[in-house]
Order: sequence, then C-alpha cells, then structure tokens
Amino acid sequence: MMINMRCPNCGANISYDPARPFMFCQYCGTKITGNGQIQPRTISDAPNLTINYSTASPAYELAVEFNGERWVFPNNSSKAFTLRPGIYAMTFYIARRGWKRNIVIPQSGSPVTVNVVYAGRTKIYIQ
Ligand SMILES: [Zn+2]
Repeated sequence: MMINMRCPNCGANISYDPARPFMFCQYCGTKITGNGQIQPRTISDAPNLTINYSTASPAYELAVEFNGERWVFPNNSSKAFTLRPGIYAMTFYIARRGWKRNIVIPQSGSPVTVNVVYAGRTKIYIQ
C-alpha cells in the first residue's frame, strides 16, 4: 500500500511505498527515507568535473583556483575532480590574467566538462 506524503525538500505531493528503504522525489530528485527524512546523497567515487586545457602558446600554463586550492595545468593536460553538487566560483589564470566563472555541478550527477582553450593573447573559451 502506498502512503501519500509531501516531499520534505520541495513540498510536492508524492506517494511512498513503505516496503522500500528509500525513494527519490520524482520532482526534485531528493532521496527520502521511510520515515520521511531527507537522506543526504553520498558522493560517488566517479569524477563529475573534468577540466581540459590546451593552448597555442605552450609557454603559458593554466592555473585554476577554487575551494581555496590551486591546480596547475600544462599544455594539453586535464584533471578530473569529484565534487558535491553546487555552484563553484572558479578563477582561471593564464599569463597573469584571470577569468572568473561559476561552474555548476548538477544534483543529477551528470558530469561537467570545462574546456579551456587559450589562443595567443586574445581569447579563452570555457565551454
Ligand atoms: Zn521533492
């Protein structure tokens, strides 16, 4: 027998099968336990952010700062990260110039790829 309840996160009307140890709200994706509590998602080991860097000017490395840490990328390198879902304020430094971007790691767990291409002095693309 299904129990009707409200999602403790978004308030949507949902039905819950008490035979199951947990469920996911079909509206917001929140994991809910049998007593109606929100269960925090565990971080999987799978990386969900990849940053790739390439440049036509190999003398220039990329440095990325976020969460109080700094990561250095030589030409044609990439690094993978496992982050909690949320918005990360990142600064990308090349040749002493900095570009700030907010990178969104979605709740869905879909991986995000940031491609930084530095072409000479003029352009940087973050996709
Ligand atoms: Zn919900």
